[in-house]
Amino acid sequence: MIAPDLETAIRGLRQLIEQSAVVVPFTGAGISTECGIPDFRSPGGIWTKMRPIEFGDFLASQEMRDESWRRRFAMEDQFGGAKPGRGHRALASLYRTGKIPAVITQNIDNLHQASGFTADHVVELHGNTTYANCLDCGKRYEMSWVRERFTASGGRSPDCPHCGGHIKTATVSFGQAMPEAAMRRAQDLSESCDLFLAIGSSLVVWPAAGFPLAAKRGGARLAIINRDQTEFDEIADLVVHDDIGSALAPFIAQ
Ligand SMILES: [Zn+2]
Repeated sequence: MIAPDLETAIRGLRQLIEQSAVVVPFTGAGISTECGIPDFRSPGGIWTKMRPIEFGDFLASQEMRDESWRRRFAMEDQFGGAKPGRGHRALASLYRTGKIPAVITQNIDNLHQASGFTADHVVELHGNTTYANCLDCGKRYEMSWVRERFTASGGRSPDCPHCGGHIKTATVSFGQAMPEAAMRRAQDLSESCDLFLAIGSSLVVWPAAGFPLAAKRGGARLAIINRDQTEFDEIADLVVHDDIGSALAPFIAQ
């Protein structure tokens, strides 16, 4: 059913959430747009204007690694201060009641953690852009550490002092393999929930788009909150095409 108005949408969501013991949210870029973080992949988004740096190019060339970090720090200046939005805060409220075991996200912005989820309960399909890892030994590096060396060297991407490997944001780049452990956890969560809540994702990017189907096959109900239509609207129990923040604001615990 497509909710005809916001009031019906909220009532429907409340009913579905009350009737469910285990709610698994799956979030995409749409939940973060009200926080000032643009949807890079949407029409008009950054990736339609500037070609993304593919993983193979990052590995192959110092110049590409330098450019990648230059872009990353330019982005930091624009969006680094982003705070969780109403959608994030509503999910964090439900998480605190124990209904949400973990959130699955396509976002790399760390805003679920910032809203109160412990890092272990955020299943990140595309990684996280707020810290970096050595691609060889896996050691974690903080942004401030990378930026200090990047600036001091006149814009050169630093390598790992321990093993000499390249250091990259902890994101999954185009051309890079999906993280297996996260994919497996997302699959398990989808199959074992009562309610799958797809929020702000067009649900077209496979394999991520398989999760709502896995949830339905596992007997869960499916609610979709997204500005635009998705190809799963027809099999969803509730579809909300209203603004995400407005639809979820009533679920923020006072
Ligand atoms: Zn290393």
